[in-house]
Amino acid sequence: MRYFSTQRQSPLVGFREATINGQAPDKGLYFPESIPVLTGEFQKTFRNKSRPELAYEVIRPYVSGEIPDADLFTICEETVNFDFPLVRVNQDIWSLELYHGPTLAFKDVGARFMSRCLGYFSKGSNKHITILVATSGDTGSAVANGFLGVENVDVVILYPSGKVSKVQEKMLTTLGKNITALEVQGTFDDCQKMVKQAFLDNELNSKLSLTSANSINIARWIPQQFYYFFALQQWKEEALPVICVPSGNFGNICAGLLGNASGLQVQHFIAACNQNKVFTDYLDTSVYQPADAVETYSNAMDVGNPSNFVRLLELFENDFPAIRNLISSYSISDGETSDTISRVFKKDSYLLEPHGAVAYHALEMYLEKNPGKKGIMLETAHPVKFGDIVEKSIRKTIEIPESLRHLSELKKESILIKPEFLDLKEYLLSR
Ligand SMILES: *Cc1c(COP(=O)(O)O)cnc(C)c1O
Repeated sequence: MRYFSTQRQSPLVGFREATINGQAPDKGLYFPESIPVLTGEFQKTFRNKSRPELAYEVIRPYVSGEIPDADLFTICEETVNFDFPLVRVNQDIWSLELYHGPTLAFKDVGARFMSRCLGYFSKGSNKHITILVATSGDTGSAVANGFLGVENVDVVILYPSGKVSKVQEKMLTTLGKNITALEVQGTFDDCQKMVKQAFLDNELNSKLSLTSANSINIARWIPQQFYYFFALQQWKEEALPVICVPSGNFGNICAGLLGNASGLQVQHFIAACNQNKVFTDYLDTSVYQPADAVETYSNAMDVGNPSNFVRLLELFENDFPAIRNLISSYSISDGETSDTISRVFKKDSYLLEPHGAVAYHALEMYLEKNPGKKGIMLETAHPVKFGDIVEKSIRKTIEIPESLRHLSELKKESILIKPEFLDLKEYLLSR
């Protein structure tokens, strides 16, 4: 498989180079030159395959020999070695729980796959890679966890001091080994700016081999279609499901759309947004108007200019009516988010976190307008990761899951730095 840049000013590259580059030199996003088509045989048999087998078959055409089959299979096994249960919440709505991985968010899937691919590509070389990643919470821990102990790779995470949840901070700062957490006395935007500047700095790049691990990397994006297949494996209803995805940068939903373009059968998609609703407005007006992000309860979706929007346009070859035919979108307020968490907990004894609640309510709105249909919402994080808002909504404390209990005993280790690029540079050069 070769990948082109959505800006079309960069050469075509293979899987390896696209993964290592992250973003194309012309600042476009890589996109597969052709989309694999699933065979009739696959459609007949995929329900009976194991998760690693299924993942391997789906991803193999995208990697096309750049990782030997046996290694690729191992990577797939390690990527999906936790559960992806489809839980029925009520008559019409199911929750696909994507939070059973090590950092309790769906980003584990993409981060685990990408980290192992980069680990494979750097194995045996004596080149040492430093991964720089800015995080507003979930990305940093998923990436760090994915790279923990990977040979020849160091991870430096920048997170905004006091602006991530307690659980998120513990997950970021207690890993040790090849992971370092920089606690930036500023905002997430400051962290992102510092990282961007680092990639542009000649001196840093001549002395260190810097790589990004952000969500636009194809090795993070493409494997996210795996769990749409896992959902369909567990779907026993006659009619195809509507799938509702809580969306921020639109990597997750675009992965589902990619699977659908390959032949995964889904009736309809819903992009559930919080008050950051440029995509909802786009479907209403056909005009795409990026905006500044506003803060909401579902902070991982506080994005005013979704980076994967260009991939969505590629998937549909810019055909607006086709986009609107397959995708609906709703924008949900914080009040509705909190109300949904409380309502679903009372009525169905099911605990949502804010991102999942946005998706749940958007799906409810769609089903109300389209009676008789049934749907799946993606629950992208564990409620405990957003414990403050969840507890406020249900007016109860929630239990810390077993897998997190050890965190309270671990000591936070971070390096406090000012939100200044020069401080970051000095730190990186002094390591
Ligand atoms: C990152 C994230 C999202 C948004 O996913 P995108 O791929 O950026 O659309 C939704 N929910 C949670 C919990 C996240 O961490």
